[in-house]
Amino acid sequence: MSDKMKCPNFGQCGGCNIIDKPYDKQLEQKKAYVNEQLKGYAAVDMVYGMEEPFHYRNKVHVVISRKKASGDHSKKAPDRYDKSGKNVKGEIVAGIYEEESHNVVPVEECLLHDAYANEIIKSIVDIMKKGRFEPYDEDRETGCIRHVLIRRGHITKETMVVIVTGTRIFPGNKNFIRELLKRHPDITTIVHNVNDKRTSMVLGENQRTLYGKGYIEDVLCGLRFRISPKSFYQINSIQTELLYDKAIEFADLKGNETVIDAYCGIGTIAMAAAKSAGKVIGVELNKDAVRDARINARINNVGNVEFYNDDAGGFMERNAVNVDAVFIDPPRSGSDEKFLGSLIRLKPEKIVYVSCNVETQRRDLGVLSKGGYTVERACVVDMFPGTNHVECVVLMSKVQK
Ligand code: SAH
Repeated sequence: MSDKMKCPNFGQCGGCNIIDKPYDKQLEQKKAYVNEQLKGYAAVDMVYGMEEPFHYRNKVHVVISRKKASGDHSKKAPDRYDKSGKNVKGEIVAGIYEEESHNVVPVEECLLHDAYANEIIKSIVDIMKKGRFEPYDEDRETGCIRHVLIRRGHITKETMVVIVTGTRIFPGNKNFIRELLKRHPDITTIVHNVNDKRTSMVLGENQRTLYGKGYIEDVLCGLRFRISPKSFYQINSIQTELLYDKAIEFADLKGNETVIDAYCGIGTIAMAAAKSAGKVIGVELNKDAVRDARINARINNVGNVEFYNDDAGGFMERNAVNVDAVFIDPPRSGSDEKFLGSLIRLKPEKIVYVSCNVETQRRDLGVLSKGGYTVERACVVDMFPGTNHVECVVLMSKVQK
C-alpha cells in the first residue's frame, strides 16, 4: 500500500481490516480461508479479484454524531459537559461506531466508499455545522439527524441521499435540501427516513421522498434496475456482474428449465438468468424489494419471471413446483431447515449457492449433502477488497442413484 492510499483511521474503524496487505496477498488469504471452510466438499477453482480494489462501495452509510469532549473515555454517548461543568459540545462528525462503543470514527476519506459519496458526506457535515442542524443523541433522545445513507448507480451515476432522523419531523429540511442541491446538483433523489427506535438497523419503517423520484436506477448485466432505499443491492457493481456470470455459468442452463431464485432481492439474478431459462420464480421477504423486482421485469420487458413476497422456506414448503435449478443467495445468517428440507424434497438437478458468509454456507452444504447433493465446484469473487469478507459461489448437483 502506497502512502497515498493510507487511511488515517486504519485499525480504528475496522472497516478495512486487511487493506494494509498487498492485494494479491489478500486474495491468497481469502482462497486459503474458503478452502479451509469447504474442506471435504470442494477446492476453490478460482479467485476473481478487482483491477482497482478501492472506492468500490456504491452504498455508503455513516452515523452522525458529536465527538466526545477531551478526556471522556467512557463507552457512553459523548458527554456535553467537561469536568468543570462547562458546555463543550464536541464537533459534528460523520463516521462509524468504534466496536462496542459510542465513539464515532470519522470516515470522510474512506478508501472503500464511492469517492463522490465521501464528498457529499463532507458537505452534509458542513451544512449541519453552519445551519445548526443537531445530530440525534440516542441516550438523551435529543437532536435530529442520525444516519446518512448514500447510494450511487455505478453506470447511471444516479445518486440517492437518505437522511435518517431520530425524530418524526426534520425541522429545516427545505433549507437543508436547498443547500445540499446547491453544492451537489447531480444528486437525483433525497429521502427522509424516520428511525426513532433503539436499534442497530439504519432505516426505520416510515419515510417520504423530499426530492426526486425516491429511488435510483442502475444498469447491471445489460439490464436496468430500480433500487429503493430499503431494497438490497450488491455493494460492488463491477464484481457483481462477475458474480452473477459465474452463478449462471455454474447452473449451465439450456433454455427451457424452470428455475427458482431464492432470496432474490430486486430480481437481479432472476432476470440475468431468465435469458437462458424457460421460467424463473423469484422469492423475497422484503416487500419494497419485491415491488422493485416486479417493476424491473416490466421495464426490461422480461416476461418469463414471476416474483413472490414470501419467506423463502415457507414458499418452498407451500409450493411444490417442478424445478430444475435453484439459486440461493441468503443473508449472512444463511438459509434455514425449512427451506433446505423443501429444497431436498423438490430435487432440482442443480443448486447454485451464492454466499457472503462461508461459515453458514458450509453448515447448509452439510444439510444438502446429507439430502443427496454433492458439491461440484466453488469459486470466490472478491466483492469486498481490503476487508476479510468473502463471497463464494458453490455448485451442487443431485447425486445420481
Ligand atoms: N440475490 C439478491 C439479494 C441477496 S441478499 C442480490 O444479489 O441482490 C439476501 C436477500 O434475502 C435480501 O434481499 C433479504 O431481504 C432477503 N431475505 C432475508 N431473509 C429472507 C427470507 N427468510 N426469505 C426470503 N428472502 C429473505
